Amino acid sequence: MNILASLCALRGICAAGVCACETLFPCMTDSQRLGLTRLMDAPRSVLVCLFPYLAEKTPGNLSLYARGRDYHAVIADALAPAIDALADRYPQNHFRILADDSPLPEVYAAACAGLGVIGQNGLLIHPEYGSYVFIGTILTDLLLEPTAAAPAACLSCGACARACPVGLDKSRCLSALTQKGGALSPEEETLVRAHLLVWGCDLCQTVCPMNTHAKETENPAFREHLIPSLSSADLDGLTRRQFNEKYPDRAFTWRGPAPLRRNLHIKEESDT
Ligand code: SF4
Ligand code: SF4
Repeated sequence: MNILASLCALRGICAAGVCACETLFPCMTDSQRLGLTRLMDAPRSVLVCLFPYLAEKTPGNLSLYARGRDYHAVIADALAPAIDALADRYPQNHFRILADDSPLPEVYAAACAGLGVIGQNGLLIHPEYGSYVFIGTILTDLLLEPTAAAPAACLSCGACARACPVGLDKSRCLSALTQKGGALSPEEETLVRAHLLVWGCDLCQTVCPMNTHAKETENPAFREHLIPSLSSADLDGLTRRQFNEKYPDRAFTWRGPAPLRRNLHIKEESDT
């Protein structure tokens, strides 16, 4: 079985492709390139894998991506046997799993590998699973044949820009803002107060027509034991350690309970 077929046979992966590092370098800053070469001396290829995560859209105040198990761990667990097999087959080469934790431009890498198109909202859109996909990669110094990039573009309908409270300005994106530590500025508080969620933001995904028929995931990690909502009562009195123990496998814990508590407080204030 070839490498891509082996990856697609792993649990939770719907598509896999290869992007050459030399394709990515021109769109990276010097510090990103330096960061990547700190992870591996001379990376040449990126194996890119997509992990669909859409499950039933029940109402809740957590972003859809954060309701199931922490995708960082799910991706690392899924790809671990693949890098063991690759290391056995290519003992002279190096392989490293990355999942939203490196300077690698993952969305661009996935598009270059032919796994989907980049929407105006900056997300990768897969033809079947829409933008509800996590991207896991294996960085390697093995030279692999790149897969063909997808020639199409998104529909450019502008619905995401119209739905976005900050006009797709990534520096003010509510997904990052709801996860920000410390106090918020008055403008940031106003944005959080008006927002439906206390963690993340799905607005530019839910309005996208290319997501209308997005298939649900079959991965139990992202469709079982979901937590759609948190309340202040869930977090009351918890230290950071207790919070992590209560929710040991969730992506919303990485900043501790403080940002969630703050966001819930801002919204509760506006409800009274
Ligand atoms: S909402 Fe329209 S413009 Fe935005 S990503 Fe989807 S297809 Fe593209
Ligand atoms: S996640 Fe929300 S705030 Fe961020 S770009 Fe999309 S719609 Fe705008």
